[in-house]
Amino acid sequence: MLQMKKEGDKSCLISRIKPETLFAITVANSLMERLFPKLNLVVTSITDSHEEDANSLHNYGYAFDMRIRDFPPAYIETYLEQLRRALSDEYTIVLEETHIHVEFDPEE
Ligand SMILES: [Zn+2]
Repeated sequence: MLQMKKEGDKSCLISRIKPETLFAITVANSLMERLFPKLNLVVTSITDSHEEDANSLHNYGYAFDMRIRDFPPAYIETYLEQLRRALSDEYTIVLEETHIHVEFDPEE
């Protein structure tokens, strides 16, 4: 199941999301349901939390982050590999310390 992060007064914001990002979230969630049916895909950031970085594609609705703390560590690479295979080369997928960052960046 897809969940948006809600912790205290801080919630993940979806306003100004671009269709390319929405598509990627849908694909990421389908993959999650198939590989790890007992886990939820928790989206921790879309257009929020990156105001300090003017160049971040989050601010333009072209990126999202998903939580990895509930992932079985041994399966993160498998998930990343399958997500990269499922999405086009226009997406950049990066494993960060606390999350997977996915952005639509056809320029790269
Ligand atoms: Zn990010």
